[in-house]
Amino acid sequence: MTSFKHIDTKVIHSGEPSPRHDNAVVTPIYQSAMFVTAGEDDYHDLKYIRLNNTPNHDVLHARLAALENAEAGLVTASGMAAISTALITVLKSGDHLLIQDCVYGGTNDLLTDNFKEFGFEFDFIDESDPASWESKLKSNTKAIYVEAIANPMMSVPALKDVTDFAKSHQLVSMIDNTFTSPYNFRPAEWGFDLSIHSATKYLNGHSDIVAGAVIGRKDLVENVRRTLNHLGGTLDPHACFLLERGIKTLSLRIERQNASALTMARFLDEHGKINGVNYPGLVSSPDHERAKTYFDGFGGMLSFYVRGSADTAQQFMEHTRIPLMAPSLGGTET
Ligand SMILES: *Cc1c(COP(=O)(O)O)cnc(C)c1O
Repeated sequence: MTSFKHIDTKVIHSGEPSPRHDNAVVTPIYQSAMFVTAGEDDYHDLKYIRLNNTPNHDVLHARLAALENAEAGLVTASGMAAISTALITVLKSGDHLLIQDCVYGGTNDLLTDNFKEFGFEFDFIDESDPASWESKLKSNTKAIYVEAIANPMMSVPALKDVTDFAKSHQLVSMIDNTFTSPYNFRPAEWGFDLSIHSATKYLNGHSDIVAGAVIGRKDLVENVRRTLNHLGGTLDPHACFLLERGIKTLSLRIERQNASALTMARFLDEHGKINGVNYPGLVSSPDHERAKTYFDGFGGMLSFYVRGSADTAQQFMEHTRIPLMAPSLGGTET
C-alpha cells in the first residue's frame, strides 16, 4: 500500500486498495452482511460486517491510521462505542483508571453509572497539574485518560506530561481527540497509545452520521477490534461510505474552521457585551502556549460569557440566525 506524506493527500488516498476493486475510483458500498469463506481458521478473520473487516472498514482503518501517523485504526458505530469498547478492552475487573475531571458528558455518565457494575475504579485528576497525579496512583492503576480540548472551557491538558507519566508508571495512555481532529493534533506523535474520536463530529463533518474511531498502537487496536466484534458496535457499510467521503474534505474544512473560529474569538473578545472568551488560539488564553506546542490549529469550538444573566445568554442563543441549537459540533452548518 502506497504511503503519502502530506495530510491533504492522505485524506483522499490513504488506504485505497491496490489493485482497486473493479477499478472503482471511489470505494463502493459493500452492502453484503457476509462474504463467502476462504479457509479462514480464526473466527475474527471471517468476513462479516460485525467483525469489522469488510472492504469499507479496511479502507477507513488504514486511512485513519495514516492521518494520525499511527500504527492502526478502527471505526465503530459511535464515539461512545469507541470510548466504551476501548475502556472495556484496556481495563479488567478490579483495575483503576485516572481520568481528567470534566470529560464529555457521555463518558462521565459511563463512569458514574456503569463503571462500578463492571468492577472498574476511577479517580478524577486535574489535567493541567501533573504534580498532583502521583498521589492519585494506586497499585491497580492501569490507564490514564484525557481529552485534547475539553468542553466547555476549551482547556488543554499537559499532554506530553500525560504520556511521560504513563510511560514511567506502565499505564496505557488514552486521549479523546475529537475536538482537535487529526488535522490539528496527532496523539501518536506524542506517545499516546490510543486516540479516540467521535467521528460524528469533525471527521465526518456533515452532521449526517454517528460514528467513532480508535487509532493507535497495533496490538491495542487489534484487541479493541476483537472486543468490538463481541460487543457488536460495528459501523455499517453505508455509514462507512459517508465517513470516507466526509474525511476527504477534512483538511479544507479544518483549515477554514480554525481561521473562522480565531476571527470570531478575537471579535467576541473585544465586544462590549461579552465578558470573556474561552479559545486556546487567543494569546490571552491561559492554555495558549501549551496549545501552540501541541496543535497545528486551535479548532472550530469556542465558548464565551454574555454580559448579563442566564436569561440574557438564553435570549442570545434563541436569536442567532445561522447557528442552530442542536447537540453536536464540527459540521458545516455554523
Ligand atoms: C460527541 C462526543 C463524544 C460521543 O460521540 P458520539 O458519536 O455521539 O457517540 C465523545 N467525545 C466527545 C469529545 C464528543 O464531543
